[in-house]
Formats: sequence, structure tokens, C-alpha cells
Amino acid sequence: MRREDGATGPAPALPAAAASPSPAAAPEPLPAADQALLAAVIGAPGPAQRRAVAKAITLLESTRADHRLRADALLNALLPHSGRALRLGISGVPGVGKSTFIEALGLALIAQGHRVAVLAVDPSSSLSGGSILGDKTRMERLSMDTRAYIRPSPSSGTLGGVAEKTREALLVCEAAGHDIVIVETVGVGQSETAVAGMTDMFVLLQLPTAGDDLQAIKKGVMELADLVVINKADLDEAAATRAQAQISASLRLIGLHHRDDHQHHNDTQWQPQVMQLSALKGSGLTEFWAAITRFQQLQRAGGRFTARRQQQDQAWMWERIDAGLKQRFKAHGPVRQALPALTDAVLSGRVAASVAARRLLDLFQ
Ligand code: GDP
Repeated sequence: MRREDGATGPAPALPAAAASPSPAAAPEPLPAADQALLAAVIGAPGPAQRRAVAKAITLLESTRADHRLRADALLNALLPHSGRALRLGISGVPGVGKSTFIEALGLALIAQGHRVAVLAVDPSSSLSGGSILGDKTRMERLSMDTRAYIRPSPSSGTLGGVAEKTREALLVCEAAGHDIVIVETVGVGQSETAVAGMTDMFVLLQLPTAGDDLQAIKKGVMELADLVVINKADLDEAAATRAQAQISASLRLIGLHHRDDHQHHNDTQWQPQVMQLSALKGSGLTEFWAAITRFQQLQRAGGRFTARRQQQDQAWMWERIDAGLKQRFKAHGPVRQALPALTDAVLSGRVAASVAARRLLDLFQ
């Protein structure tokens, strides 16, 4: 017998006393209304599909418990239809030219017959009330094209929450047949790590002046990059070339020092590259896409494409378990009761931090 969870043999019986359905149980069946929503998402491209995609993402973004149950069922139903897009992460500081670049690239790709979706991860959007994609003037031409779908960052507080919603929105876009999903993020905070963790390839945009001040480039972010693009090369060709050489050299250094813990940089076939382009003039886009294609071919040929997604899924599952456990821990009655006194005791040096943690964990159990 083949089970949902991939194991064989009879499914273990649910404990009779279980008050709520086991989370490991088969997903809830989709209510009729959501079956229609699913059908519209995976159906023919057009206005009805666009509305369905937006509606599905809104449902996934909802924090209401009953919505979450429906959203989980929808997500599982979408899963077999997803996964076929190339997931491209793009990061860079504000003003580097991300939206100019994504629009130019997106328009070129849809002209070639692709369907492009653009999502964003911007944890600051809940503070500022807007988002990096919220401004209507950004990517105006691309957003008007029916072959593209642009969705601003969800504004749900923590980076983990924003990233979770974006990951799920990505699956919806794939199920709707978008074969290229771009996930954009700003070059601040930890959002790059989150986006690199949900995409097949991570591209970092830099200014031509970057090479003059390598210190300004966060090393951690550089390590995530599969490709570094020096944008605005039209402004100062000499500076762009200098930046390209300097960043190439530093990528080689990172490659030498991190052979073991950066597997996707650890192959002899794809080495992170640095290229120049001008998003404004549209020059270098063909070379950029050629690099993307080559990266994809190499990754797929070596089995790394699938392996990276599997690692991401597993890491993501654990990230969400960690976050969920912490939330439940803090909401747990006995823990909540004991927490202030134990925190005080730790702060005043009467109880060791690790001892306090163990006591609280014992209460949780
Ligand atoms: P974002 O904040 O990273 O999304 O940056 P934008 O795409 O909004 O670009 C910021 C500014 O840089 C805008 O005024 C763009 O017109 C300009 N810009 C973007 N790409 C280029 C480029 O390749 N060359 C030049 N000269 N300007 C550019």
C-alpha cells in the first residue's frame, strides 16, 4: 500500500482520543468553492485566471484560522501543478535599478513567449505601509501586460512570515503556468538569505562604484550570489569594468574559502560570475539570459537543480517548525506564567540562562 507520506504499509491508526485532526493526516478535501478557485488558477490564462491567482494568494496570506485550513488544502492541491518554473531571486540596494532591470528583462522574456511573475520580499513594508513593489509607477509597462503577474510584498511583520507567504504565492504563480518567477528583495537585513532560500538562482545587482568600496558589499550576501550584475554600466564604463574585476576576484576568494559549506559553488562547472549591463538601455540582457540558461543547464545536468529545491523545502519545513514551536511555547499557559519570574532571575544572575531554559522546556512538555 502506498501512503500519502511516501511510506509503505498500512497507515497507522489515529489515536481515538485525538481532539483535533492529526496534522499528519491526509489534507482536508477542498470545499466546492475552492475547487472552482483551483480550477481557475490552473485553467486558461486570461482575466479569470488573474483574478483567481490574486484571490488564491489573498487566501494564503490571510491570518484567520479558518482561512488557513482552506489555504492549506488549496496549497496541497496546487502542489502537483507547481514546480515547473525557473525561480530567480534578484536583490540589490534601493536605487541600484532592480525594477528597471526586472521590467526590461520581463518584457524581453514575454516577447519570447514566456509568462513572467514578479513577487517581492520586503519585511519593511509593514512598517512603511508600502512596499518595494507597492508603488504603481514601478514596472508600469510590465504590470500592464497580461502575460505578466506582479504582486507586491505581503506585509505581515516578521521576515519569516513575509517569506512564508511569498513562497506560497510562488507556488500559485507556477500552478497558473508562469514559467519564470522572479522574487525581488531589497539589499537590507536578512531578506536576501530568505530569497536565496526559495529560488533556483540568486542574482545580486551592484552599482559600478561597488568595486571602489568592496567593504560596502556585505560578504554574506556575496556568498549567496550565483551571478553578480553590475548595472548602470552606461554611466561609467571604466568604473564598471573595475568593479567587475574586483568583485570577480572577491568571489574567487570566497569560493576558495568556502568550498565545503557552499555546495552550489563547489562544483567545477558553474562558478559565480560577474557581468555588466545597462537596464536602462537594455544592453547586456541577452548575455544575462544566456548565463541564466547555462546555469540552469549545468544545474539540471548535475542533479543539483532538484537537490537544491529539496534542501530548500527541508530547510523551510524546519524553519517553520522552529517558528511555530516558539510561538506555541510562548503561548503555553504554564510557560507564560513562569516566564517573567525566570527572566528576572536570569537578569539578576540568580539562575543560569541554560537552567531557566531547561525549566521552561520541562513546563512545556
Ligand atoms: P530600484 O530601487 O533598485 O528598483 O531602482 P530603480 O529601477 O527604481 O532605478 C533607480 C534609478 O536608476 C531610476 O532613476 C532608473 O531610471 C535608474 N537606472 C536604472 N537602471 C539604470 C541603468 O542601467 N543606467 C542608468 N543610467 N540609470 C539606470
